[in-house]
Amino acid sequence: MDALDRFCHALPKVELHVHLLGAVLRPTFAEFAARAGMGEAETESLYARDARPKGVLHILRALEQRLLRRPADLHRITYEHLAEAASHNVRHSEIFWNPTGTAHLFSYREGAEAILAGFADAAVEFGVSALLIPAIDREDTPERAVEMVEWMIAHRRDAIIGLGIDYREPDGPPERFWKAFRMAKQAGFRITAHAGEFGCHPRNVETAVDLCGAERLDHGYTVLEDPALTRRFAEAGIVFTVVPTNSFYLRTLAPERWARDHPIPRMPGAGLLIHPNTDDPPLHRVTPTRCWRMMAEDFGFGREALRGFTLNGIAGSFLPDAAKRHLFTAYAEEFDALEFPAA
Ligand SMILES: [Zn+2]
Repeated sequence: MDALDRFCHALPKVELHVHLLGAVLRPTFAEFAARAGMGEAETESLYARDARPKGVLHILRALEQRLLRRPADLHRITYEHLAEAASHNVRHSEIFWNPTGTAHLFSYREGAEAILAGFADAAVEFGVSALLIPAIDREDTPERAVEMVEWMIAHRRDAIIGLGIDYREPDGPPERFWKAFRMAKQAGFRITAHAGEFGCHPRNVETAVDLCGAERLDHGYTVLEDPALTRRFAEAGIVFTVVPTNSFYLRTLAPERWARDHPIPRMPGAGLLIHPNTDDPPLHRVTPTRCWRMMAEDFGFGREALRGFTLNGIAGSFLPDAAKRHLFTAYAEEFDALEFPAA
């Protein structure tokens, strides 16, 4: 571990963008796969991440459709993920889960309770806090999304804080799901949305906020293609949860120009508030420490920028305002006590 690793490890962190099924630790995944009769070669091929990685969504589908069995699986995934995150000084995490993907195995209530029990156990063991964000599977129908929000409303829990949307964006623009978002908003849930990933039109970023009520954005990179929209969202202080290991850009940008052509390093200069996240950590071969390291090493952000991203994470979180005020002070003090390695 070098000085930059030590610095990135010691940073007090929140995570605002991590998918529960993307966070299954590798040995646990192998156990689930063996239990379902999946051969080692197929398990290996699912995990392969080449220099030009394909997306990871097919792995999440394999978990939903073939590998998961019971609510206890979700409890285990949650607990193990938070243990791993806490070991990288993640103090608070907001986690996506697609309840419709496992509805053929167990009910929303059973799945949610298993995850919340994992939160409670991890809070006691590792002092990490967590909130759950059920997410719309945009490859499924809008009616299914409405049904999912009905489940959320029928089974309210304080730690189930909001509604998100994920899976493949090109065929699932946010506006298709306006009704589910409106119901969730009216019921008092916070809103976030994956938009502007996969090189999708910046319109998706706009509709996520203006029509679907998103208060923060996951990815959101293509907002840069619309300067007026960029200015407006910069002024509104919308936090973008960005992912340095995002496979779309690893796949589509020339490797030797990847860091230079990537939208992430241009976002703060355009006035946008960004915060780096791991998304699907074992699948992206990333940890919270490495994620922050990439911001410094690959994208060239310095100490002041990283300090800003740390505070953006608190600003963008769905924690209560009083807790956020406390964290702003505590994280700033902790950050300022750390020594940033000389280049
Ligand atoms: Zn994501």
